[in-house]
Amino acid sequence: MKLDKILAYQEQDLELRRLELKIEKSKDFAIAEQAKAKFINLGNIAKNTENNAAVLYKNYKKLEGYVNTLSSKIDELAKVLEMELSDDNLQKVGDQINKLSSNLSAIEKEIYNMPQNIDEISRTNEEARKQGASMRHTFNESKKRFDALKDELEPKIDEYKKKLSEMSKGIEKDLFLRYQSLRKDKVLPAFVSVIDGNRCGGCRMEQSMAAIAKLKQKGTIECESCRRIIYLEE
Ligand SMILES: [Zn+2]
Repeated sequence: MKLDKILAYQEQDLELRRLELKIEKSKDFAIAEQAKAKFINLGNIAKNTENNAAVLYKNYKKLEGYVNTLSSKIDELAKVLEMELSDDNLQKVGDQINKLSSNLSAIEKEIYNMPQNIDEISRTNEEARKQGASMRHTFNESKKRFDALKDELEPKIDEYKKKLSEMSKGIEKDLFLRYQSLRKDKVLPAFVSVIDGNRCGGCRMEQSMAAIAKLKQKGTIECESCRRIIYLEE
């Protein structure tokens, strides 16, 4: 089996893979992705705290409304007593006053807790916004560097791809398909020479005697461990 063409192809393809890896493993890409995720998360925190503040404000307004009705309620009670100062009315007014005073102490408690909530909410909101701005900055900076890297490498990658497509035309179809299948799984180099007479040049796994016999007879075998095509160097 003539392997010159596929090996020449592989040599160029490995150069292409090297460029692809520079992009895939770019630290700036990872940093940008991380910053983006954090930014989204912080945005949610900011939104939640704003919702909480809105709820708090609504509750405050509700309490304010209730407090405003108190004086008219007290006026009503006074009127009842003005009409007739009977035991019955005194009892009624007394019950009402007890109810109002227990409502008031509940409100007092809620109001007491409010400023702390407001402080906490606005602190959390401010912190989330500050960190969010910093994450956006980190994202923009790393994205800029990543884009610059891509701009630099992509023309070269395209060049290799064009060259490889040209080279692939002269390669035996079966060999090329086997190469492509390994390439797809990123098992590269896909074609390796045998080393020490019986080991895979890729994963270094020792091959069986039967496999080596087949290698000597046919010129290539598939590695029993990593699936690479092992060839006999001429
Ligand atoms: Zn192997």
